[in-house]
Amino acid sequence: MSAAVAPQTRPQSTPVPSAPPAAAPSRPESGRLSVRLGDSTVPVVFVRNGPGNVLLNLHQDEVTSRRVGEAHVRRVGGTYLAFDTGAATRHLKLKVAGRTYTVDPNRMFDKRGLLAGGQAISPKPSAAVAERLAADARAFLKTVVVPELVKAKASALVALHNNHDGGAVSLAGLDGDATVAQLHRATHGGDHDDFVLTPDQLLFDHVRHADTVHAVRERQGLAEGDEADGSLSQYWQGANAKVGGRVVPYVNSEAQHEHTSAQRRQLELVQTFAGTSAFAQPQGQGSQATPSASTQAPARPTESSASSQRPAAAALPN
Ligand SMILES: [Zn+2]
Repeated sequence: MSAAVAPQTRPQSTPVPSAPPAAAPSRPESGRLSVRLGDSTVPVVFVRNGPGNVLLNLHQDEVTSRRVGEAHVRRVGGTYLAFDTGAATRHLKLKVAGRTYTVDPNRMFDKRGLLAGGQAISPKPSAAVAERLAADARAFLKTVVVPELVKAKASALVALHNNHDGGAVSLAGLDGDATVAQLHRATHGGDHDDFVLTPDQLLFDHVRHADTVHAVRERQGLAEGDEADGSLSQYWQGANAKVGGRVVPYVNSEAQHEHTSAQRRQLELVQTFAGTSAFAQPQGQGSQATPSASTQAPARPTESSASSQRPAAAALPN
């Protein structure tokens, strides 16, 4: 900390001496990265615009979320990341050991998700192939997503998704679902296909109190008998305590295709969470040092009984 320049007032009003005035608008930086998944190289487009949340799109066919997410970052700040192979499809075509697999990128973060059957991957992979893809998917988080979270001083990792009218991915479909701990139908929340979903109690409460966006809180961790589904949501719950020593909550922004303004409202509301996040406190103190545990731990409510032991962490290989 640069005590020399600052008067005796405490950090809030103490900018880093060499930094430009806080009001200076930053210029978005954009480009492409490459991510190795199996033997394939998958292009990832990025837009960086200073501090803010990190918004990640995995399903390329969910184009409303892509448009809204990128526009949000350009307007408000943060970082936008999206797979960008040029194919507007949910699945990625990935080569592994001489074969081409069609893979749902939101089922590849745990090999058990890939081995579970269903729509996760076809043809059915061997255990070795599933293991390799899951390891590469997690390496993508470690080498691309986590550094962006740190760079953007993000208060949340926001996964961008679109869904279709009704069905399982709607408030009606999730009401009473065993994975759901709390569900809030906002007074001014609009369509029941538009909601945010997070395991994080503070973020859920933040959205619930605003009462303009429907909110679903996922149960934390896997219960006995649950199958790991390989989703980023589930994986992140086991890993989220380890981003630069800070808790970075995960949230899904879910909106029906073409529900542009609803999704925009979700991202804006989640963005305002920065002000209340325990995680946000170390920002602006002019230090890159790992915040001490005491700056964040006490403010975070602990899940009761069953999940306090973080069963997901044990279930998720590194
Ligand atoms: Zn999706």
